[in-house]
Amino acid sequence: MKRIYLDHNATTPVHPEVFEAMKPYFMDTFGNASSTHEFGRKARVALEQAREKIASLLGCKADEVIFTSGGTESDNMAIKGTVWANADQKTHLITSAIEHHAVLETCKYLAAHGSALTILQPDNLGIISPDDLHKAITKDTVLVSIMHANNETGTIQDIAALAKVAHESGVLFHTDAVQSAGKIPYKINQLDVDMLSISAHKLYGPKGIGLLYLRKGTNLVQLSHGGSHEFKRRAGTENVPSAIGLAKALEIAYRDMEMETARLNRMTAKFAEQLQVHIDGIHFIGDQQKRVPNTINVAFEAIEGESILLSLDMKGIAVSSGSACTSGATEPSHVALAMGVKPELAQGAIRFSFGRHSEEADLDFVIDTLVKEVGRLRSMSPLYRAKK
Ligand code: PLP
Repeated sequence: MKRIYLDHNATTPVHPEVFEAMKPYFMDTFGNASSTHEFGRKARVALEQAREKIASLLGCKADEVIFTSGGTESDNMAIKGTVWANADQKTHLITSAIEHHAVLETCKYLAAHGSALTILQPDNLGIISPDDLHKAITKDTVLVSIMHANNETGTIQDIAALAKVAHESGVLFHTDAVQSAGKIPYKINQLDVDMLSISAHKLYGPKGIGLLYLRKGTNLVQLSHGGSHEFKRRAGTENVPSAIGLAKALEIAYRDMEMETARLNRMTAKFAEQLQVHIDGIHFIGDQQKRVPNTINVAFEAIEGESILLSLDMKGIAVSSGSACTSGATEPSHVALAMGVKPELAQGAIRFSFGRHSEEADLDFVIDTLVKEVGRLRSMSPLYRAKK
């Protein structure tokens, strides 16, 4: 059976060029980058070259790039690190209701341990308003954390405008850019954020590595203690092969971005159009203009997203209902609910996230399968029969 993978926002396969670039650092140049002998020095040179390359691609300085184990750790580091750096005062933090759990749960944890927390609601397209942010800032606010692109809908926030509002009140700004990195061309200095999280496995790099951009001079408490690795921000022997992989993955993403963006925009536009032609009772979730090129989120009336996911999986098509980290849970997506989508409709949401290996030629099969499976599930749905 042919398998079609449309879940690139959950993870991506490692790009062959990334794999090739990483290979020498497992067995040949395997040294500990902190050792002073030649084995270590060679690893150190490679690690710092990777950091330099990333910094020049992202538009920041090399010593502002801290390697982490991925998006979740970067988010934790940014949020807990900032709040705990202000432990001698009252702390208030602001985030949004559509964040990934790596941000939401971290903020809620801090709220359970004494911080005040404001969770901003988006409009019905999933956009957070700079005015709402302005109103939420108090004299105790130490941090605002709002994501760049949403993992479920692909909706892109105006991060520069939001960061400006925070900075006007002297408040730090963090953005989770896990789903925008490598998909849209931004420079950190244009976004003007203080911290930004990236994860390699979302952009054809290896799993288990990411980075936190940390603006020079930002006061952040260290979470893991031990050696003086990563500018004394994160102790632990550096993951050299993966850092090389992350740098290569970003390089390829920036190199091919224009072409890939055009290709994915064409493909998702055609997909959305075909869905509308062939299936009734569907609703696109998120801002269809301001979205990353690979993501389409659709709710199918009167059936459960989880049932569609399982039916498509039996036919070889991999998609996601809600964010991958919460799949299996039966509650409707917190992102759709926050956008005002009714729970019964949010329950029927499916995320299609296309990628490098998605081909226009596969669309017909995906649409045909969806038409059949949605029809079959609806024929068994009392909700759908009641509507007719
Ligand atoms: N933030 C967003 C927006 C994500 O989509 C994800 C992963 O799904 C994460 C954070 C967590 O990243 P990681 O899997 O590298 O921990």
